[in-house]
Amino acid sequence: MTVQPVEEVTVRLEELLFPSIANVEVLSADVDDETVRIDARSTVAGAICPGCGGWSRRVHSSYLRFPVDVPSGGRRVVLCLRVRRFLCPVISCGRRTFAEQMPGLTRRYGRRTERLRSTLAAVGLALAGRAGARMARVFGVTISRSTVLRLVQALLDPEVPAVRDPQRPSLRDRPGRRGKPTAGGSAARPGGIEPGRLARGPAHGRGGMP
Ligand SMILES: [Zn+2]
Repeated sequence: MTVQPVEEVTVRLEELLFPSIANVEVLSADVDDETVRIDARSTVAGAICPGCGGWSRRVHSSYLRFPVDVPSGGRRVVLCLRVRRFLCPVISCGRRTFAEQMPGLTRRYGRRTERLRSTLAAVGLALAGRAGARMARVFGVTISRSTVLRLVQALLDPEVPAVRDPQRPSLRDRPGRRGKPTAGGSAARPGGIEPGRLARGPAHGRGGMP
């Protein structure tokens, strides 16, 4: 039997658990009958202040964050992330400190990982609220119908705006029917879901399936 060095096993664990996420170190992984708990942290030396864009390496403090992740093998997966709070280096910035985010994994105030969030949003796009929440329970995620709808709606209001080509006007700039975005979004919404359908949910919409 070949024994592999611990470092090699850890690297493989990171590739296995976070295949598309850079700069994450897995510290440990515990499995019981119901839950997989993964302790991890960022390996980036600093972070960018969301208020002013300044780069900081000055750690103010740290804390643990427990975002729920995509289930694995029928078990609930909870990440235990060691998150650092940095001091903003820019005196004129309104934020004295800020918490780091791990791109592709966390967002401010997010209780779920980005990949669970996008999975649930995709389920919500396909099935809408009630059926989406039921489908999520099938693969081990407890979520309310209204939260499914909120995740779908959040797709229309991304945290980071897409980079626009100045030569190419967006739908918002075009004249005519498609150029009249409202508070609920434009006609070009993902999956062709109409604002009313999102707001009302499936019980009152066209596809009022149980
Ligand atoms: Zn700042």
